[in-house]
Amino acid sequence: MARPIQLILDQKHRGPAAHPARQSRGLLEVAIKCRRIPLRDSDIPRDLIDAYFEAKRRALDVILSHVRTSVNGKVHLRFDNIDRKRLRDELLTGWKFSKHYVDAAINSVMGLVKAWITRYNRGLAEKRPMITKRTVYIKNTLFSLRDGVLRISIEPGKRYLDVNLDDYPWLPKVFDRVGGLILNEKELAICFKKDVELKACRWAAIDINLGNIIMVVVDGDDVVVKRYGVGELQKIHNVYEEKRRVLQSLKTTAPKRSERILEKYRRREKDRANNFLHQLTSRIVKELVGCGVIMEDLRMIKTRILNRSSEENRKLSKWGVRAFQNMLEYKLKWRGLPTIYVNPSNTSRICPLCSGRISPHEGRLVKCSGCNMTADRDVVAVVNIYRRARELPRHLVMRILETEPIFETIMTRRPKAEKKLEKLQKILAAE
Ligand SMILES: [Zn+2]
Repeated sequence: MARPIQLILDQKHRGPAAHPARQSRGLLEVAIKCRRIPLRDSDIPRDLIDAYFEAKRRALDVILSHVRTSVNGKVHLRFDNIDRKRLRDELLTGWKFSKHYVDAAINSVMGLVKAWITRYNRGLAEKRPMITKRTVYIKNTLFSLRDGVLRISIEPGKRYLDVNLDDYPWLPKVFDRVGGLILNEKELAICFKKDVELKACRWAAIDINLGNIIMVVVDGDDVVVKRYGVGELQKIHNVYEEKRRVLQSLKTTAPKRSERILEKYRRREKDRANNFLHQLTSRIVKELVGCGVIMEDLRMIKTRILNRSSEENRKLSKWGVRAFQNMLEYKLKWRGLPTIYVNPSNTSRICPLCSGRISPHEGRLVKCSGCNMTADRDVVAVVNIYRRARELPRHLVMRILETEPIFETIMTRRPKAEKKLEKLQKILAAE
């Protein structure tokens, strides 16, 4: 149930304490957009980054020394408020920066250790956690935003980092508040937040397959059917798969080096895949003005065989269907548009006209044993997905099934990954 706007505005001015309650009520939700901005070399508070990194390392040593192993082999943390205060006081000795940084460092390490304990007790983690990233989390008590200038407190009362948001045209112009900042040695990540009331005046359904994404937009009596090629994504993963295979020979001769290279590949593969998904979702969002989205609920994709074969599930999960869905959902949310997830079972096995059983026909076509309808199997699936959340009159179902999808491809700027692979193969052949 929507609440009167005035009440919501009142709550907003009451400050952060009111947020959790507001998030969970009615149709109002918090949309988030994170953006990175480069910092001038001279602006970067390197001494703070170093001190924060050191504080996290020391905190980790202390907190890990409070981890106990019980007789059943499970680990748990014995770290009470007195221990915490002692650690805080210790870290604050000689600390010239704002005190909140120490609290943030302790919190972040506590989170890290607790997450490790959970994984360890489930048998999923073997190595103890380490602090590797030189990043500083800046919570909202450490900065203010006035007239477009973000003022970050470095040393209380005397040293600040001022960032004029107007200098960066890619930052959102309309938002309600800044949620948190992450600083590293190169840039500042800013998390913008906006309260949105989710509503749609029309709906689209999206079906995700290995080679393409198919989308149907229904607007009154108009339908648009589009197919987006995602072969590029497959290519990215194939290139890195091949690179890893080539590296196998290095694994025995130089295990440390090969591990380092593998790590680099994993990072790059993820970056490139993410880059692709960003471009794809941005393109889709552009099409969806005023339009909510219906997708299959694929949260269980790794563990359950849903609509597809387990092999297909594995591949889909690898190409990042969930990442795609999350990205699309938060981009839509920023525009106040809702996303609905529906049960994915049998979306490609039931005839949308007569609910009869459909089976493969020729090529991509499927045929219904009940009414002899033949259509593209992906289009059938997307119609079924749509109908699980919204009504779709029979004449529109027929029209969609008869429509030839408009095909679009997404091409990303290509780093020379393929060339590098060739180079690598040459080097290894020579060794
Ligand atoms: Zn049928």
